[in-house]
Amino acid sequence: MDEIKKKTGADEMADGKSLNFLEEIVEEHLKNGVHKSILTRFPPEPNGYLHIGHAKSICLNFGLAKKYGGMTNLRFDDTNPTKEDVEYVDSIKEDVKWLGFDWANEFYASDYFEQLYQWACELIKKGLAYVDDQSQEEIRLNRGTVNRAGVPSPNRERSPQENLDLFQRMRAGEFPDGSRVLRAKIDMAHPNMLMRDPLMYRIIHAHHHRTGNDWCIYPMYDYAHGQSDSLENITHSICTLEFDVHRPLYDWFIEKLEIFPSKQYEFARLNLTYTVMSKRKLLELVRKGFVSGWDDPRMPTICGLRRRGYTPESIRLFADKVGVAKRDNIIDLSLLEWCVREDLNKRANRYMTVLDPVKLVITNYPDNDVEYFQGALNPGDESAGKRKIPFSKELYIERDDFMEDPPKKYFRLKPGGEVRLKYSYIIKCEEVVKDSDGNIAEIRCTYDPSSKPGAGEWRSVKGTIHWVSVEHAKEVSVNLFDRLFTKPEMDDLEEGKEYIDYLNPDSLKVVTGYAEEALLKDNSAVAVQFERTGYFVKDAKESFEGKTTFNRTVGLKSAW
Ligand code: ATP
Ligand code: MG
Repeated sequence: MDEIKKKTGADEMADGKSLNFLEEIVEEHLKNGVHKSILTRFPPEPNGYLHIGHAKSICLNFGLAKKYGGMTNLRFDDTNPTKEDVEYVDSIKEDVKWLGFDWANEFYASDYFEQLYQWACELIKKGLAYVDDQSQEEIRLNRGTVNRAGVPSPNRERSPQENLDLFQRMRAGEFPDGSRVLRAKIDMAHPNMLMRDPLMYRIIHAHHHRTGNDWCIYPMYDYAHGQSDSLENITHSICTLEFDVHRPLYDWFIEKLEIFPSKQYEFARLNLTYTVMSKRKLLELVRKGFVSGWDDPRMPTICGLRRRGYTPESIRLFADKVGVAKRDNIIDLSLLEWCVREDLNKRANRYMTVLDPVKLVITNYPDNDVEYFQGALNPGDESAGKRKIPFSKELYIERDDFMEDPPKKYFRLKPGGEVRLKYSYIIKCEEVVKDSDGNIAEIRCTYDPSSKPGAGEWRSVKGTIHWVSVEHAKEVSVNLFDRLFTKPEMDDLEEGKEYIDYLNPDSLKVVTGYAEEALLKDNSAVAVQFERTGYFVKDAKESFEGKTTFNRTVGLKSAW
C-alpha cells in the first residue's frame, strides 16, 4: 500500500486510524453538545449522471453520518429547469443505491420554492433585498473589480413596498426573461465579490420537470442551497473547496432569516489523472458521439464504471484511500485500478481465455482424445468450486507467450523449451511452422504424459501459460479499453487546445477471444478473471443469442 500511496499522489490518504478534519469537527460538536446527532445531505443537480467525484462526495456524506449514528438526505438541487431532467433523477437514485447507501429522505429544492419565495419577501420587507432592472451586462460591469468598489444600482434604494410589488409581479409572469432580478442588499464595496448584492432570483419562463409551469422565477444556487439545508436541519453541509468564498453568503442568508443554523464545510474535490469530470464536458462527449453514452465503460461515470466491471466495494475502498483533503490535488487513475483489482482478486472466478491466439499442436497426443482437467474457480475460496477444462491435441495459446529469439530470462515457450500448460501437462516446443509471409502459423510441441497433475511426482518448470482447446473454445468479443485521454492533467491544457484534442484514439480495441466453455455458463454477478490477463465483465448491452461481449475492467498488473 505504501508503494501505491507514493505513486498515486494520494498523500493525504486515510490510514483508517486517524480522523480526517471533518470527523474531528463532528466529534467536537457531539462532545460539546453543539449537535445531539448529525444530519448530512448529498445534493446533486439532476443535470447529468453521477461520476466518480460524486461518488467521493456520497461516500463522505453518507459515511460520516453512518460513523456517528446520524443520517443523510438525498436532495435534488433542481433550481435550473432548462438543464434538468427526470432521466437524471432516476439515474442518480440508482447509482447512490448501487454504491450501497440509503437516504433518510428524498427531497427536492423545488419542494421549497414557496417557502423560499416567502422568505425572499421577508428579506424585501426588512430592506435586505431589491428588484433590479439593470441588464445582466450592466450588473456585471457595475459589480466592480477586486480593486475597485462596485457602483450601486439605480434601483438599489427602491422602497420595500415597491420591491414587493415588483417581485410579486415577477412571480406572476408579467416580465420577460432577463428583464429583472431580485438581489440581496449587502455591500457593493465588499472585498468578497459574491457579497456585492448577489442575485437571488432570475426570471426563466421554462417548464420545470417537477413544478411544471407553476414558476417563472427560479432561485439562484446561493439563495436556495443554504435555505434548503436549513429547512432540513442539516448540521454539516459538506461541499467542495471552490465554495469557500460562498460561505459568508451562506451564513448571511441564514442569519438574516433567523433560521436553523446549518453550517458549510469544504473539502477538496476529487481530480483524477487522464480524466475529465465536469458534467458539461461529459455531456458533450455523449452528445457529440465521442463515447457511446453516459454508461460507456470508458466514462468516469458511476454507470460507466459499473458497466466496466467496477464494484461498489472497490469504489468505496477508493473513496476511503483518497481520504479527505483540504487542498486540491490530483489522484492517479492507477489508485482506482488498484482498488478494483484488490476487490476482484478476492471474488472473481477464474477462466482461461486467449485474446491473441496462435495454434499449438501436440504431435504425440492421440488425434481424437479429449480429457478434462480441473481448475479451481477461485484459488482463495474453495467453496467457489471447480470447473472442468477440456484438453485436446490442438490448442490456442497467446501469441506473446511464445518467442522465437527470446532474451535470456524468458520463461515462456521458446524453441526447444518447456512450459507447463496451466492445470495440465508440460509441453516442449519442437518446431515452428510459418506461413508464406513469415508469420508463425503453428507451434508444434510434444507433451510429457508423466507430468499430468496428480499422476505421480510433480515436476516443475519455470513457465506456466494459459491455453484453450481449439475444438472446445467459445468465441467471445472482447472490448479492451484504455484511458480516454492521453494527458494526465486534463485541467492544465496547452494554449489554444481543448480537452477534446486529447482524446485517446486507441481507447477502445475490439478483439475476438477464445474462452473455455465454462466461462459462458458463469452466472456470477461480478467480473471474472481471465487468468494471467486481467479482469473482465460480461456486457449485458452487447451480448445476445450467439454473441457474448466482455469488457476489460482492468489488467492484472498496472500497465503504466
Ligand atoms: P460538475 O462540476 O461535475 O457539474 P457539480 O458540483 O456541479 O459537478 P453537483 O450535482 O452540483 O455537481 O454535485 C453534487 C455534489 O457532489 C456536490 O456537493 C459537489 O460538491 C459534489 N461533487 C461534484 N464533483 C465532485 C468532485 N469532483 N469531487 C468531490 N465532490 C464532488
Ligand atoms: Mg453544481
